[in-house]
Amino acid sequence: MHYHGSIMNNDSLRPGASGTSEARPGEMPLENSYARLPASFYSRVAPTPVASPALIRLNRSLADHLGLDPDLLASPAGLEILSGNRVPASARPLAQAYAGHQFGNWVPQLGDGRAVLLGEVVDRDGMRRDIQLKGAGPTPYSRIGDGRASIGPVVREYLASEHMAALGIATTRALAAIATGEHVFRERPEPGGILARVASSHVRVGTFQYIASREGRDGVQILADYVIDRHYPGLADSANPYLALLEAVSERTADLVASWLMVGFIHGVMNTDNLSVAGETLDYGPFGFVDFYDPGTVYSSIDAQGRYAYNRQPDIAQWNLARLAETLLPLIDENGDAAVEKAYSVLSGYARRFETRYHEGLRRKIGLSVARDGDAELALELLEIMGSSNADMTLTFRRLSYLDGTDPRGDDPVRELFAQPGAFDAWARKWRQRLAVENRGEAERRSAMCAVNPAYILRNHLAQRAVDAAVESLDFSPMERLLEVLSHPYDDQPGNGDYSLPPKPEERVLRTFCGT
Ligand code: AMP
Ligand code: MG
Repeated sequence: MHYHGSIMNNDSLRPGASGTSEARPGEMPLENSYARLPASFYSRVAPTPVASPALIRLNRSLADHLGLDPDLLASPAGLEILSGNRVPASARPLAQAYAGHQFGNWVPQLGDGRAVLLGEVVDRDGMRRDIQLKGAGPTPYSRIGDGRASIGPVVREYLASEHMAALGIATTRALAAIATGEHVFRERPEPGGILARVASSHVRVGTFQYIASREGRDGVQILADYVIDRHYPGLADSANPYLALLEAVSERTADLVASWLMVGFIHGVMNTDNLSVAGETLDYGPFGFVDFYDPGTVYSSIDAQGRYAYNRQPDIAQWNLARLAETLLPLIDENGDAAVEKAYSVLSGYARRFETRYHEGLRRKIGLSVARDGDAELALELLEIMGSSNADMTLTFRRLSYLDGTDPRGDDPVRELFAQPGAFDAWARKWRQRLAVENRGEAERRSAMCAVNPAYILRNHLAQRAVDAAVESLDFSPMERLLEVLSHPYDDQPGNGDYSLPPKPEERVLRTFCGT
């Protein structure tokens, strides 16, 4: 198979370049670079219209950043597009094909079973972004699914992706949430929803696996060239672009997973089909945030073995990257052994990079500005006593930010989070000794710590409250309130203290569910 297309050649990064000229005035102008890839990479399919769409929420600032007119999107004409009831003239809607390892088991055929890629826009930074309608009806990859989404998971994904963005963590975004006016049947009938999702791309490790298993080396080369063009353009001229691609994806993934661990995020289903090659958090399903620190925390109802527990995520990401590496081997070196050796060295680099990032992040969380020997151990020791004392992760770090650097008399707000306050006292003595050799003032340390230790995270019980109101009575005001608070997670918000607290025993959510 020979394919000479490049998104750069026939679809300039300038908005309004080829593919957008057909857009009618007031219509979403879309580009379609993915639709120019070989037909075997996807299926052309339009969204299935819904009964009576209503806008739950439009992300106006994101719309604006994408170069889209928020007022138009919020108008009846915009709603028609966001709900999939009308396909813009410039769109070439499609469902992407992929495969993947689900919980370690190879599944040769997955694909967008309930999502349609409407097309792409080029945002104000010149970045190409996918606009995908999730819950837009059946596709050739739906298998036994209905292609739809319940409103609960739509609300959860909207909240999570916008919160993660506000935390500064790479993520897909939510452009809009729509109520379809139809019911979906899960354990019981629930109101249906659609999430208009924005991503740097939706290419996954599982996309590479699909193409490798069906099309072999030449197919993978086409996909890899596309991904390099789109996400890592600087690599095109490197001596071994495909090895460089593996390295770049590994680096972004290491950074991503380290950033998850900093805020207690658990993805929940890190199957290879849910790992973006652009390094963004992708596919919010049974995710959760750690409240009371326990490194083995698992919330997902479908993860009985704890494969995707909080502290297993770095290793699992490496396992997934190894699956990506396998698809790239024939491109990395014609000699199989040499290819394996090169890929192996990149994957070891992932582990080192992750550890560096993780330790750096922890060091900042405890307020140390310059690296010294023993810093990582000091931070890890705090995590350990948080674990044995069941201390709330977010509150511990946030309140630590406000402790005096020399005087332990005001330590109670942190001590009271620990079942064994004495363990914290002993740690705090070492911490203050270490702070003594920092050369920055208290105020500076405090604001640096507050900038990396959020006061507010999307705690599971908060998400659940917003979901329940949406599902039970189409009441989206708890979602709105939560979004307001969570979009400034690093700010103290007087009056919103309740949102910073861990769940009361009766509020605890111990299981989270898939978005299906
Ligand atoms: P997930 O675990 O949610 O990322 O989904 C795994 C696979 O199941 C993907 O191929 C999805 O497209 C597909 N899928 C999930 N929910 C549905 C649904 N309601 N209808 C059709 N396909 C679905
Ligand atoms: Mg998925």
